[in-house]
Amino acid sequence: MKYSLLSFFLPFTRYPYEGHAMPCPGCGHGKSTRVAGIDRRLKRLTTVACNHCGLLYTNPMPTDAELNAYYSDFYRFDYQAASTAPKEKHLAKRRNEAAIRVNQLEGLLPAHARTLDFGCGSGEFVTAMLALGHDAHGFEPGETYGSHAQSLHGERISIKGWQEVEYPERFDLVTCFHVLEHLRNPVDALKQMARWSAPDGRVYVEVPDLGSARGNKGFGALHFAHLLGFNHHNLIVAAARAGLVPEKIISPTGIIFRHGTIDDAAVENEAAKGSALTSALHGNGKMMSNYFRHQYRKITGAYR
Ligand SMILES: [Zn+2]
Repeated sequence: MKYSLLSFFLPFTRYPYEGHAMPCPGCGHGKSTRVAGIDRRLKRLTTVACNHCGLLYTNPMPTDAELNAYYSDFYRFDYQAASTAPKEKHLAKRRNEAAIRVNQLEGLLPAHARTLDFGCGSGEFVTAMLALGHDAHGFEPGETYGSHAQSLHGERISIKGWQEVEYPERFDLVTCFHVLEHLRNPVDALKQMARWSAPDGRVYVEVPDLGSARGNKGFGALHFAHLLGFNHHNLIVAAARAGLVPEKIISPTGIIFRHGTIDDAAVENEAAKGSALTSALHGNGKMMSNYFRHQYRKITGAYR
């Protein structure tokens, strides 16, 4: 281990990284406003909101090397993931999610579609697509989950990151569930998804929704692994820069895209809406009050 465990868990201290200041990873604009200086572990972590599209992001942003160190040494502690094999409870939850996602794709795919799951985890979505007769593939850089997926599906699974893995043929569908928010270069990742998908193919992206008033956790939603916090509008802005346009909206931040372009005025409009939504939910010191309100609602059962 490069760092001590304490350096990632002791409250009110900084995370052990230097990083570097970055323009918005979603829309590319340079101006941002600080919205939080602390995360859900009560550690010091600076999160900013892009003034143009409202994307929340960690700034300074960790470098690739710093992220690799974190994932190799600490990620499993953060997510209470098993170090040798995924837990059955986790697998059952993922199977359930895969079944729901497969249903959402009904009518959008040809028979025997060639599909790729970008960051496939323990492989449940690949399993579900194979069960429907599709030619499903996936890759996962995390050794524990990737090995589990590979034990089920052999060569269909690569234990690699998205910048290492290669595919000679394109896909009818590329899926990416709860991965994009972990990446420091989401537009590059979306461009890669677009390149991997056939001209008439689809890209289905889902990320946590930071644009929802209900369940707004304030700074409790922020942590080191989630470098980005999207809402509906700035997800569309980032995808547009990769040549992807919405085809079917499953949820605010669960969107099936196709290849295409949106005109500049429409992109600007989405960015303005994204920024307004972020300001309304998270601006002007609301990160703190929303955290305590959320804790109170959880304790009193107000969400039920
Ligand atoms: Zn932005």
